[in-house]
Amino acid sequence: MVEGLLDLIDKKMSALPSDADPFPFPALHADAAFDCQSCGACCAYSADWPRFSTEEDEQLDRIPEKFVAADLSGMRCDGVRCSALVGEVGKHTACGIYELRPDVCRACMPGDDACLMARAAHGLAVEGAVSSL
Ligand code: SF4
Ligand code: SF4
Repeated sequence: MVEGLLDLIDKKMSALPSDADPFPFPALHADAAFDCQSCGACCAYSADWPRFSTEEDEQLDRIPEKFVAADLSGMRCDGVRCSALVGEVGKHTACGIYELRPDVCRACMPGDDACLMARAAHGLAVEGAVSSL
């Protein structure tokens, strides 16, 4: 399941325009069916999820070291949960490094396939999805 999810994210990332700045959380997606601030499922789905991919070194250098995995491959996770995730999944969550988050996190959009997989894994509602990109 995780492999399928990563494939989905890769596909979406390659389809994003270079100036895109999507992603979870704020009111950026107030019209979406799902409220990221009361979810956080995609940030607590797999330790392989918040990996580094297309970022410039300067971008990665700004992420506080305590949140970075020992092998520098991505965000440090506690189990499947990203260490930068704040709050309780399914209730109230936020990204502790929102402005600095990796590109893969910017590619995940509320209501898309990856989102739905993560929500389903946490037993959160998947009805009322908005369309994928
Ligand atoms: S799983 Fe979907 S609704 Fe939940 S935080 Fe991620 S993008 Fe938002
Ligand atoms: S860096 Fe932020 S947006 Fe990305 S997985 Fe971690 S908590 Fe979620």
